[in-house]
Amino acid sequence: MVKSESLNRVIVSRAAINHNFYICRKQTGNAGIMATVKADAYGHGMLECARIFTECGVDAFGVAEVVEGVNLRCSGVDQPIFILTAALAEFFPAIIKYNLTPVLVDVAQVSAIAVHSRHCRESLPVHIEVDAGMGRQGCLPAELPELVRKIEQTQGLRLAGIMAHFPLADDRGNPASNNIMRIFQEVVGKLYSDNIIREKQCLHIANSGALFGVAGSNMDMVRPGISLYGYAAGGTGQGGVGLEQELRPAMSFVSRVVQVRTVPEGTGLGYGHSFVTRRRTRLAVLPVGYGDGYLRKLSNRSIVLIRGRKVPVVGRISMNMTLVDVTDFNSVQVGDEVVLLGRQGAEWITADDIALWMGTISYEVLCLFGHCNAVEFVD
Ligand SMILES: *Cc1c(COP(=O)(O)O)cnc(C)c1O
Repeated sequence: MVKSESLNRVIVSRAAINHNFYICRKQTGNAGIMATVKADAYGHGMLECARIFTECGVDAFGVAEVVEGVNLRCSGVDQPIFILTAALAEFFPAIIKYNLTPVLVDVAQVSAIAVHSRHCRESLPVHIEVDAGMGRQGCLPAELPELVRKIEQTQGLRLAGIMAHFPLADDRGNPASNNIMRIFQEVVGKLYSDNIIREKQCLHIANSGALFGVAGSNMDMVRPGISLYGYAAGGTGQGGVGLEQELRPAMSFVSRVVQVRTVPEGTGLGYGHSFVTRRRTRLAVLPVGYGDGYLRKLSNRSIVLIRGRKVPVVGRISMNMTLVDVTDFNSVQVGDEVVLLGRQGAEWITADDIALWMGTISYEVLCLFGHCNAVEFVD
């Protein structure tokens, strides 16, 4: 057999994804679950993750862009697919054709979609996003009644739900979350009491942080993302709470040792000689670098696992090469598996660990590794 695949592999555990869905299900109670699979399921592979969630009985999917929704629909997904980012006018024909659910944010959007929805035999369910305190996308609470009326007056559209988003749900006990939830419930309540809407709407506000940390935020549907992939929204800093501690990281990132060599004390290592050996040093060369998403920022900071032991990265990470100091582990050999993210033996490196070294959050680490490499699934 001729070998030609990459030595660097991003591997996603179906069992972990499945397990995490059921942990979220337990936490969700009677509310529906929209699995957030934007950004290729946070780097894990959207289509395969969607298949797993569908087997688990997921109620809906959330993506950022129309193109992602079209891909999901064309791969056989029947559930509602929410386009969470405000769609531009030119995408409304695709939204209608593929029966995607847009999240509308202003009346101009409604006018743009009306041009196309007028001709539809069945009306398209749409949701509204109200900015109840996130300070990002959506309409202001004061603009909500006008937006609802405009949708109700538009042929071919049917208002099916109203959503908001939390800015600080991962910050346990921050009173902002309860305030935002109260504002959301008040503005929606007023739509009913003013007779602007009569039919039951699907209300949703909870991301992963809220699902596990903001009591009463489940409403009619929850929108977990990061927890489905095995991480607590708040990172290791706050640990998980309750069921959140049972989540299992689904992604691993592994490489191989391609050379083992010994250099004398005082040797400058790699570009910039950012590390100079203080002893006779045994180095393992790894064929991975920032081109694979193992960012330069991790130079002289991160740790990898070889033969179940933690070994430090030394010197600057280059595009496709990284050095680790294996002086204390003379069993390390060419061809050994190297775990950059994931478990090996009794040791574990999490995306939260890597995020700490990179000065970011697990979300970004997972997207980065998943997008820079081909993703394989294992049971
Ligand atoms: C990404 C996203 C989510 C999921 O957030 P997590 O913190 O990953 O659970 C939920 N809702 C909206 C609107 C989002 O954009």
